[in-house]
Amino acid sequence: MKKPGRMLKEVLGSLFKEPATKKYPAEPIKLPDGFRGRLKFHSERCIGCKLCVKDCPADAIQIEKIGETFEATVRLDKCIYCGQCVLSCNKQALEMTKQFELAQIERKNLKVNI
Ligand code: SF4
Ligand code: SF4
Repeated sequence: MKKPGRMLKEVLGSLFKEPATKKYPAEPIKLPDGFRGRLKFHSERCIGCKLCVKDCPADAIQIEKIGETFEATVRLDKCIYCGQCVLSCNKQALEMTKQFELAQIERKNLKVNI
């Protein structure tokens, strides 16, 4: 057990420190570089090889050919935001954004075209 005198020093010291907690969501938080949030797809770079689909450990991404271009669908509820699909893509057609506020009321809304 800590001695009362020592505790008092800590209590007084913390009065002048910035709080450890953040005022999120009232104030936006600063995310670190390399943060892995919602995926972004660059359709114009995609060649439809589906390496991203094959390497996804969560079976969360699908690539479909629509006319002459490709479309990517991601299940935000299955994705574990590991970034493997981004690493697997040789065409830099996928990137991870800092978007993390992805909650939805209905689960069906978590299946999105990116
Ligand atoms: S790995 Fe890249 S190029 Fe290949 S299908 Fe996926 S997004 Fe398209
Ligand atoms: S970030 Fe990971 S889990 Fe999400 S779609 Fe890409 S490979 Fe799959």
